Order: sequence, then structure tokens, then C-alpha cells
Amino acid sequence: MRFIVTRKEFIKKSTALGIGAPFLSILLDSCSKEDILFPDFEVNFSGKVIVIGAGAAGLTAGYLLDKYNINFQIIEAAPVFGGRLKRADNFTDFPIDLGAEWIHEDPSVLARLISDPSVDENIEIITYSPETIYNWKDGKLKKHNWSANFYSEYKFKSTTWFGFFERFIVPNISDRIVYNSPVSEIDYSSDKVIVKNTAGDIFEADKVLVTVPIKILQTESINFVPALPSVKKAAIDSVEMPDGIKVFIEFSKQFYPDILFTDRLLSAAWSEDKLFYNAAFRKDSDKNILGLFAIGKKASVYSNLETDDEIITNILNELDTIFDGKATRFYLNHIIQNWSKEPYIQGSYSYVFNQSESATIAKLKAPLDNKVYFAGEATSSDNGATVPGAGESAYSVIEVILKE
Ligand SMILES: Cc1cc2nc3c(=O)[nH]c(=O)nc-3n(C[C@H](O)[C@H](O)[C@H](O)COP(=O)(O)OP(=O)(O)OC[C@H]3O[C@@H](n4cnc5c(N)ncnc54)[C@H](O)[C@@H]3O)c2cc1C
Repeated sequence: MRFIVTRKEFIKKSTALGIGAPFLSILLDSCSKEDILFPDFEVNFSGKVIVIGAGAAGLTAGYLLDKYNINFQIIEAAPVFGGRLKRADNFTDFPIDLGAEWIHEDPSVLARLISDPSVDENIEIITYSPETIYNWKDGKLKKHNWSANFYSEYKFKSTTWFGFFERFIVPNISDRIVYNSPVSEIDYSSDKVIVKNTAGDIFEADKVLVTVPIKILQTESINFVPALPSVKKAAIDSVEMPDGIKVFIEFSKQFYPDILFTDRLLSAAWSEDKLFYNAAFRKDSDKNILGLFAIGKKASVYSNLETDDEIITNILNELDTIFDGKATRFYLNHIIQNWSKEPYIQGSYSYVFNQSESATIAKLKAPLDNKVYFAGEATSSDNGATVPGAGESAYSVIEVILKE
């Protein structure tokens, strides 16, 4: 969820919609040639690439390598693809995005991500223009419906970010993904790059593209041989990827507004660190589903609790205080996605750059001996912390690799 006024550069480019803009249905083939990111260029590379991580960046990289007939493998630690894209199919009567959910920019980005404006599929997009916005501060619940004018957001109507990748990207590359294979070492000391996983399996390639979350690089669970240059290591350590959690709760009655902030309105909008929201807004749904999105310290309050029972009790108590006990009265069911406890993610996304953002990103992206490359949301110059940013980071690095 993003207000137009925000810390991130990408919002400057986003399209502001008027309040109450009608439901929007977008045909991907309505995008023009200029929407295509991947320019024609001469491919000079014919070796093998190993991509580490099957999240948005790694999958997009695989999609592009496949397009250019390059030999590649994707090595993924988890038993599934998606990384911070994750879907709950059976929680309610529409699929729920347990990770990335909002599109955050003009939906033509979807055509750009698959580099194909002529794709003959329809994806229905909803304009996410909430009508009721409240905040809870100092024991008072206040309406701020006027602030809906400042929202500029899109969402999928009946699919999810995970579903988009599952449908348009993964079918081309599914046989190239090796699952349950946490990479523990990348040795780039000789001609070929040798990648080892925790089971001791060895993979060999001419080039390796690392797309794991920045937190995984910070914890040094991947050993680089030779060690990462100190400048790169310092850049990695300077980026904060704080806690992140999402919770969806089904109630028998809707007693909450479309958006509820639990802070002063402007602080909440600026920091974008916690909100309750009507997750069924403009979906084809008969259900009352309240979402909670929290990152940073406001996520840690929940994500550090021992059990899911403690988390949901804490949230229901909080909502009961705001809505006179209605949360407990109308509660039916919940689902919790604690991203901080996911072993191969360990948090939300790159959130704070403690040094100059552009200089840090340049150091994060810098390849090692033209053999080991880096992509992923934290390396995106314009769209960090988003799915499009992760995808675009793959486009730019694959172009570099193939041109060399
Ligand atoms: C709670 C939350 C809400 C969000 N909301 C939005 C939103 O609304 N809109 C939006 O655009 N973005 C949102 N994002 C951000 C978005 O999800 C990410 O920016 C994007 O998905 C990151 O993609 P990635 O490929 O860079 O990393 P990831 O998706 O993290 O992929 C990295 C992959 O590397 C794998 N891996 C890790 N370690 C190893 C290893 N040692 N060996 C092999 N594989 C390994 C991981 O399992 C993972 O699959 C949200 C994120 C969170 C957490």
C-alpha cells in the first residue's frame, strides 16, 4: 500500500488516479512496443548460467535466458518457487497474496515483465482506491476519507503476483529449477564457477547470478571463494531488511473501514510500516477478510512472538480495543505469514539504505570478476522493494551477461 507522497522514487512515476476511478480491465496486448524492456542486442555469450534463487528476480532471469536459448539452471533453497511471492488458495473465496500484493505502478509493467505486449491473455486489474480511511491514535478513531484522493494503487482482481509468475513465466522454465537446494558456497577462483549446496551437490557454470535476499547475504550463509570484496560486504551490511509479516482474518461481519492506520495519518502514510486493510475490496467475494501488513518495528511486535496463537490473540485484542470487542465477536478464521521466520528470506525487503542509496546499489550490483552477478529487489535503482523492481533488476543484469 503506498500513498502518492512516499519515500520511494518509484511513486514519482506512478499514475495518480482520481477517486472512484472505475474498475479497470487491462488487456496486456494493449501495451505498445515501447513498453518492452528488453532491447534487441547482439548476444555474445554462449556458456552456461546458474541463477541462485527462484523469486521474482531469479524467475525473470530464467525466462530471459530461455528466450535467448542460453543453457541455465535455477538453484532454489525452498521446495517451491516464488520467494516473497506466495499464494494462499484455500483460505477464502479468492486467492490471497501472502507476500507481494499491490502492483504499485501502471499495470503496463506486467507486459514489460514478460517482455510481450502481444500476449493474448487478459488480466483483470482493479484500481485500489479505498473509500473509507480511518486512523486510531491516542485512543480515538478518526475518519479521513478525504485522503482516499491521494491513493494511487492497483491490484489483481482474481489472480495474485504469485499467479502471474506461475502463469506467464514459470511454464517456460519449470524443468530448469532445482528445488530443496540451499546454496552454501560459490567458488569463482578458477575459470568455471563452482556452486555447492548444503547436501554437497556441485553445479558448474560460466557465470552465476545471485538473487537471494540481502538478509541471506548479510548472514553469510553463502561462502564466497575468494571472499567478497570489503567494499561489497560493507554495502550489503549497510542495507536494512527489517521484519515483515502479513495476517488475514475472516470475520462474519465487516466492522472495519477499507484502510485503518494505527498511527498519525501522515506518519503512517510516510513510513508505510503498518496498516489494516479490507483485503476483499473490489474482489469477487462474499467474505469479510481483513488484512494486516506490517514491516519493521511494527512487524517485530508480532513476528517475535513464539506462536501463531499469540500473534492472532495480540491482533484481536488490538482490534477489540479499537472496535469495542467486535473483532473477537465476529472472528472466524485466520492465516499468518511471518516472513521473518522464513529461513531463506528472513525479513521483509530492503527498507533503509544507511549510506547513499545509488552508491550502495552500484556496489551491490557490481559483478565479481565478470563471473558472479547480483540481482534482486535490493539492487533495483528505481523500483526497490517491489516485484517489478526485482524483475527489472534481472533484465538489466542479463543484458550485461549476454552482451559480454
Ligand atoms: C510482507 C511483504 C509485502 C510485500 N508487498 C509487496 C507489494 O504489495 N508489491 C510489490 O511489488 N512488492 C511487495 N513486496 C516486495 C516483493 O515481494 C519483493 O520485492 C520481491 O518479491 C523480491 O523478489 P526477489 O527475487 O528479489 O527475492 P525473493 O523473492 O526473496 O527471492 C529470492 C529467492 O532466493 C532463495 N534463496 C535464499 N537463500 C538461498 C540459497 N542459499 N540458495 C538458493 N536459494 C536461496 C529464496 O528461497 C527465494 O526463493 C512485499 C514483500 C513482503 C515481504
